[in-house]
Amino acid sequence: RSVSRFSTAAASEELITPPVHIEYTKHLINGQFVDSASGKTFPTYDPRTAEVIAHVAEGDAEDIDRAVAAARKAFDEGPWPKMSAYERSRILLRFADLVEKHSDELAALETWNNGKPFEQAAHSELPMLVRLFRYYAGWADKIHGLTVPADGPYHVQTLHEPIGVAGQIIPWNFPLLMFTWKVGPALACGNTIVLKTAEQTPLTALYVAKLFQEAGLPPGVLNIVSGYGPTAGAALASHMDVDKVAFTGSTDTGKIILELAAKSNLKPATLELGGKSPFIICEDADIDRAVELAHFALFFNQGQCCCAGSRTFVHERVYDEFLEKAKARALKRIVGDPFKKGVEQGPQIDSEQFQKVLRYIKSGIESTATLECGGERFGSKGYFIQPTVFSNVQDDMLIAQDEIFGPVQSILKFKELDEVVRRANATRYGLAAGVFTRNIDTANTLTRALRAGTVWVNCFDVFDAAIPFGGYKMSGIGREKGIYSLHNYLQVKAVVTPLKNPAWL
Ligand code: NAD
Repeated sequence: RSVSRFSTAAASEELITPPVHIEYTKHLINGQFVDSASGKTFPTYDPRTAEVIAHVAEGDAEDIDRAVAAARKAFDEGPWPKMSAYERSRILLRFADLVEKHSDELAALETWNNGKPFEQAAHSELPMLVRLFRYYAGWADKIHGLTVPADGPYHVQTLHEPIGVAGQIIPWNFPLLMFTWKVGPALACGNTIVLKTAEQTPLTALYVAKLFQEAGLPPGVLNIVSGYGPTAGAALASHMDVDKVAFTGSTDTGKIILELAAKSNLKPATLELGGKSPFIICEDADIDRAVELAHFALFFNQGQCCCAGSRTFVHERVYDEFLEKAKARALKRIVGDPFKKGVEQGPQIDSEQFQKVLRYIKSGIESTATLECGGERFGSKGYFIQPTVFSNVQDDMLIAQDEIFGPVQSILKFKELDEVVRRANATRYGLAAGVFTRNIDTANTLTRALRAGTVWVNCFDVFDAAIPFGGYKMSGIGREKGIYSLHNYLQVKAVVTPLKNPAWL
């Protein structure tokens, strides 16, 4: 069977770039934008063209030390943790308003540095950022302990206190949203922060940090250091004055973070890591809808999602119909300049990821899987890859086991429910899963049998500030978002006082 190729015809020529220029390229430490102690900088790129768009201060251990000292002082001496929770809440709300006001520039900067479609950044991700900060602003003045009944004449209460200085390390696939998931709950609980951005995407976090200052966040509460993982990131994870570390990225780096945290001061760590999430289409599913959502589940954000539905399991009775439609959908996917209207897929983030995805495609081609469409670079510059579909994928193939993090859909066939549960769970990961069925019993069986932190039924990638997110197994430790994320940033203190002649206990 011949492999179908792509046409670029569908991309509109209309550019939707709002004016944006790069203003902030230095670290934000103690309320000031400062150069690195070493004076070093590193380039950051436009993945559409591989051209350098700015040089950014390159932080290492010394800059992390300065940032941690500022965060420590802001925590120990205040005013942030000592401020009324209502005041903190109002600053978070003012920040959300400012982000809303600047959301077009922020979305444009995000697209410029990351390559994601501008429409996705502007209409989906920026509103989520605003929603999440308003959500946590709402929590700030509702965090409190309990009065606990003890077996004896004691008054016992628990105080829910901020944990201290939080070290946060984020990836490049959703630079602003990952900033938001980490910073929102940490600030709502009264912590101070040193955040290290991903080396590929340092720009938008610096811009929003500036908006935080405008909103009235005191100096030293939120410090941003740009730089590489093994230098700045490792210094942060192993710092003795950091009380908690939160990380999103690859499972291999997650293990390093946990080890650094343990070997230094045994700081608690939350880890949000990789995935190889199953998307299960049962024989009774609405096939057209399942095709569209399976496509979205995998190709969204150029396939660069930790929870991507990257193993599409299809029941044998609907397999042929699904495959034809999934291939037709992939062939219609609009790849091109992410600033153009209607474009669904931009470039991969950088040369390393681009090469890595192409290597996985090559391994798929060399296996007994069938390449249905795509399989090659798209265009001749930047890091674009054709939407690629493999059918006849077997569980033991590399493309069915590893996190590809690119626009490569792997379609597998199944027959029995028990069989698909066993195969879906046969992975080191456990981040998410999708289930497509019209049968409530099948849905209930699968949602309980699948070992994953999120199971979407007849939908996928539904995110909300209130919905917790995190992984089973090697997909991570802990949950972000919702009420669960507050627990990551609070200490519980029990206060016990004897009661003299109490009327009751
Ligand atoms: P990574 O895990 O290396 O990087 C994520 C963050 O960790 C970055 O800020 C990086 O600077 C930092 N980091 C790297 N090494 C570090 C170290 N030794 N100590 C402290 N911090 C360190 O991820 P990557 O190399 O950018 O991407 C590799 C793969 O990771 C991808 O192909 C993908 O499979 C996966 N990934 C997953 C997510 C996710 O959301 N779960 C996000 C990005 C990448």
